[in-house]
Amino acid sequence: MWLSPHFTLAEFEDSFTARYWKIDNKAPPEIIGRLRVVAAGLERIRAAAGCPLALTSGWRGARLNRLVGGVRRSAHTLGWAADVRPVGRTLEAFVAQLRATSPQVLGRYDQLIVETSRGVLHASFSPSMRMQWLVQSGGPKSAVLMLPTLDEG
Ligand SMILES: [Zn+2]
Repeated sequence: MWLSPHFTLAEFEDSFTARYWKIDNKAPPEIIGRLRVVAAGLERIRAAAGCPLALTSGWRGARLNRLVGGVRRSAHTLGWAADVRPVGRTLEAFVAQLRATSPQVLGRYDQLIVETSRGVLHASFSPSMRMQWLVQSGGPKSAVLMLPTLDEG
């Protein structure tokens, strides 16, 4: 099932860890609407970056989240987040491009976390929409807040 022009529900549910441990990682029906919001946000990021995105982690049930070492109440377990890796670009170039993108183009987001050790961008779109940029070079406690991009509007 396509959630947006470039992202499918299967990509959000796929997990190597879930397959390895034979965990059913199907998103509950009430979560699908949230995943559509995330997919729409990823489409804006994809368009701003000008490159395809590989989704490395999307929906996580509670057990899967524990197994992958996610923080408790992770936005992934609520259906509000996805981790993406730019295809054909370095993470640095990808992030620099997004940081230079007009907020009107990038649209609203809750948190964009540059996870340098894993080479991914964690993008969450929960309703709090804090518009936060963070950089995380180690575990979750290493997150450092970056200044948001200036609103040109
Ligand atoms: Zn994440």
